[in-house]
Amino acid sequence: MLKLTDKPVTAVATHIHWDHIGGHRYFPDFYAHADELDWLNGKFPLSIETIREMVVDRCDLPEGFCVSDYELFQGMPIKVLTDHNIIDIGGREIEVLHTPGHSPGHLCFWEKAGGYLFTGDLVYKDILFAYYPSTDPEVYLDSLEKVAALPVNSGF
Ligand SMILES: [Zn+2]
Repeated sequence: MLKLTDKPVTAVATHIHWDHIGGHRYFPDFYAHADELDWLNGKFPLSIETIREMVVDRCDLPEGFCVSDYELFQGMPIKVLTDHNIIDIGGREIEVLHTPGHSPGHLCFWEKAGGYLFTGDLVYKDILFAYYPSTDPEVYLDSLEKVAALPVNSGF
């Protein structure tokens, strides 16, 4: 297998939706928020058939990909994250922000020193998914207001 680095690698997904954890099996060291641990342990709120339909409908799949082989990743994180945890990635500190609404344990990652905010599925240019049974539009708005107050570097 091709390696990009000899340093330890830890996967930290913003949340445990199928389109964010599909590669977690390649990264056994991963972190997640406590509110989504059940989803990693057999209690994801959608059936595997529904998830496979979403994979086909929403993804640009590579040639030869067989959706019937797709399995939802299941496993336990090596660390359970909470709001305001700090992740040190070697000279850079990333603050974990619990931003529920899109999903109960959704996380954003904030590097205060550079003013960088990684928003995952909280903020993006498209239809915001806040209408599933596991979403909460009112909490979603609270999370948007939480990150909107940050002095984000918009100098791109
Ligand atoms: Zn999502």
